[in-house]
Amino acid sequence: MPAVTPEIWIDLPRIREPRENVRDRSVELVSTAPSLLEGAGFPVRRPWPSQTLGFRQADPFLLLDHLGAVDYAPGEAKGAPWHPHRGFETVTYIIDGAMAHHDSQGGGGLITDGSTQWMTAGAGILHDEMPPEKFVEKGGLFHGIQLWVNLPQRLKWTPPRYQSLESEHIPIVVSERGDTLIRLIAGSLGEHKGAGATWTPITFIHASLEPGARLQLPWPEEFNALAYVLSGSGSVGPAGVLVREGQGVKFGPGNALTVLAAPTQPEPTKRLEILLLGGQPIREPIASYGPFVMNTHADIVQAFDDYQAGKMGSIPAAEYRREPDRSN
Ligand code: MN
Repeated sequence: MPAVTPEIWIDLPRIREPRENVRDRSVELVSTAPSLLEGAGFPVRRPWPSQTLGFRQADPFLLLDHLGAVDYAPGEAKGAPWHPHRGFETVTYIIDGAMAHHDSQGGGGLITDGSTQWMTAGAGILHDEMPPEKFVEKGGLFHGIQLWVNLPQRLKWTPPRYQSLESEHIPIVVSERGDTLIRLIAGSLGEHKGAGATWTPITFIHASLEPGARLQLPWPEEFNALAYVLSGSGSVGPAGVLVREGQGVKFGPGNALTVLAAPTQPEPTKRLEILLLGGQPIREPIASYGPFVMNTHADIVQAFDDYQAGKMGSIPAAEYRREPDRSN
């Protein structure tokens, strides 16, 4: 993983393990992500929403897509052409490779090698998420995630917002035992503050555990707690429930999270790569259809009407040439 893995860990700040009144969150359920094709046909694993881990359990998260890891041959890389969103926020974190993003507000940029992009769709936006031309031409390793964070009813109509965070602006801390590297993508962890700002309070971290490492972290009581294994294997919670690549975990109540890495880990990183994430549950009804996530069926009908009427914006003129069906 280029850019996100510093060579020297020793100078990095350390996060203390919780010591007093530790209530380690136990595992409520494990969900194995099915594989599917998204957008123009790129491979995705989706641990939630699923039959076992639905909106209610994941609240305030709506969806997690694990993109790749896939080694694209030249000409093979695909993305998601222009489409709308309303009613939530997307967080895209690219570990390897690159994705180019453009939206109807004029926002956009390259998300690459450990950088993160936050898009508040709010009242409505159009965007595309495509591999850059050079990357398509050459091919290569592509690996990333996209997380959907819900917005409460009072914020569904907030104006769209865009934040781009380069990898060097994502704070990195080391576990107290010194065997786990933690990237604070959003929210805070103990006294350490992360990078991005979402409307809904969340904590979102990427932890890399050396083989055999044991990680225990403080976790806000009022947040829910989820995990997703990007690669490798290990165990989670006080009972040591086994987890491996492609599995999502929902934890129960408590104020701490425990992760243990198995003694051997696979290439290419030879570490257990795991996402830990939680947030303040919103606890509102959810009506969801494709790219729109609202509170009622009537809201969804309105979203389709507004999209058709062009109220979510239009594709910028300069981007029309990118649309194959409009190129001639
Ligand atoms: Mn999208």
